[in-house]
Amino acid sequence: MSNTQVLIVGAGPTGLVLALNLARHGVSFRIIDKNSGPGQASRAMVVHARTLEFYRQLGFGDEVVSLGIPMEAVHFREGNEEVAKLDFKDNGAGLSPYPFALCFPQDDHERFLVAKLAEASVAIEWNTELKEFIDDGSHVQATLEKDGSEETVQADYLCGCDGARSRVRQTLGFDFPGGTYDQDFYVADVKVANGENRDLIINVGSHTFVLMLPVHSTGMQRLIGIVPPELAGQTNVTFEQIQPSAEKMIDTTVEQVHWFSTYHVHHRVASHFRAGRIFIAGDAGHIHSPAGGQGMNTGIGDAVNLSWKLAHVLQGRIDPSVLDTYEEERIKFARTLVATTDRAFEAMVGEGVGSQIFRTWLLPHVLPFLTGFSAVRQTMFSAVSQTRINYHGSALSQGHAGDLQGGDRLPWTPAPATDNFAPLSALDWQIHIYGAPTPDLRAAASDLGLPIQEFPWTDAAEHAGLEKDAFYLVRPDGYVALASAHQDIEPLKAYAAKFAFQP
Ligand SMILES: Cc1cc2nc3c(=O)[nH]c(=O)nc-3n(C[C@H](O)[C@H](O)[C@H](O)COP(=O)(O)OP(=O)(O)OC[C@H]3O[C@@H](n4cnc5c(N)ncnc54)[C@H](O)[C@@H]3O)c2cc1C
Repeated sequence: MSNTQVLIVGAGPTGLVLALNLARHGVSFRIIDKNSGPGQASRAMVVHARTLEFYRQLGFGDEVVSLGIPMEAVHFREGNEEVAKLDFKDNGAGLSPYPFALCFPQDDHERFLVAKLAEASVAIEWNTELKEFIDDGSHVQATLEKDGSEETVQADYLCGCDGARSRVRQTLGFDFPGGTYDQDFYVADVKVANGENRDLIINVGSHTFVLMLPVHSTGMQRLIGIVPPELAGQTNVTFEQIQPSAEKMIDTTVEQVHWFSTYHVHHRVASHFRAGRIFIAGDAGHIHSPAGGQGMNTGIGDAVNLSWKLAHVLQGRIDPSVLDTYEEERIKFARTLVATTDRAFEAMVGEGVGSQIFRTWLLPHVLPFLTGFSAVRQTMFSAVSQTRINYHGSALSQGHAGDLQGGDRLPWTPAPATDNFAPLSALDWQIHIYGAPTPDLRAAASDLGLPIQEFPWTDAAEHAGLEKDAFYLVRPDGYVALASAHQDIEPLKAYAAKFAFQP
């Protein structure tokens, strides 16, 4: 029997990002996948700003951007005509070093993450399937099968990043409540007549929906849509059957089809994300409509949240109770996300009065007017980029200073202020001060082994909602743990004692 600290089941985006973070934290782990290599189907197309910010902490945010296409505009069409064009480029200017959504297909993305793991000397164990496991209270015993041979592994923790049909979730007996959309969806990679389109094109109508976006590495376009109602429920629907309506909706001719598939879409969130020494993350815990481009990004967010907690518990740097905050923080967001993507999707394709108002009035007349205001563009960016996710109410979130409270994402202070995200590459706890620390705070931070990152007080810091001379204790994943307007050291000491902090 072999031993490891963490067994990661599944090398999709969630498992890969968990592995990269654990590797950076120096944790020993194994990562297995029953497939023979990275996914070939490029499902998720959009990488949002918060994911790029996490990648920047790992040192490769800019590299990922250079491999994709930042989305510049969204064209809304209804029937055969364009009803609105919204500029998307730099909507999040001043809010994030990555003020856009990036088109970067999931298959390229997974290969990139696999290569990054190889650079960290981590090999994924392909063709290796988790068969069963038990948690005996002090370890997890897992049975793996490879090439017909079985192996037993003993791990301190097991992470099920094993996708929507997760064996880990099923074995734990977690419910997966929710539903399935009535519509059948299709996905296709196609070459279109009028060259390379770099924008997002969305056509919505009652019971119709198609979106088109660019696939950089192949020069193809990705189509995601609803199978027309007259073909719904049929087996073996072909692209040729969909082509006439799809071409009208995207206003171009499809010259070549690279691949095509139909699928059902579910919207579900598991009843729990943790049982004892076992966690689930990514699609194993939540699935929903691909329309918002949120699924993969949410799984990556789960992985980032879980990784530092596992690492610091395994290294004896923090109290194991911190592991409870993983489910508390992530399940809340997953439930909100599934409900909102559900409502947004219904608003777009439903036939009720609300949907008709959305399509015939809001979309063509109101949205373009509103997006003339930078505040509205920034609100739209915050809503989709996952930069607005917060962990208010978590056991780890305390205090407030300026516009921020414990659980908020540390806001970015753009140039000409000093880049306050640069020190987050340490992937460790740190204190941020926008002004000057007191000698008492310096002494307390030094006793606790917490580095202080000092930044000058600037308009950008004020605009970001920070408060002059306040201190912000920042978690390894870039969220504010504790905020204190007056540099009170007692709350800091109490926080460190509560979670048994060790440098
Ligand atoms: C058409 C489509 C379009 C989408 N578009 C977007 C988008 O634009 N943006 C977005 O964010 N999301 C999108 N999504 C969702 C996105 O693809 C998923 O959220 C993402 O793949 C989830 O990653 P994961 O790592 O959690 O799971 P998966 O990618 O499903 O990976 C799970 C892995 O676990 C392995 N595995 C399973 N069981 C076992 C076992 N017993 N033993 C060993 N290995 C096992 C599997 O082989 C697989 O490799 C889209 C999905 C679809 C279908």
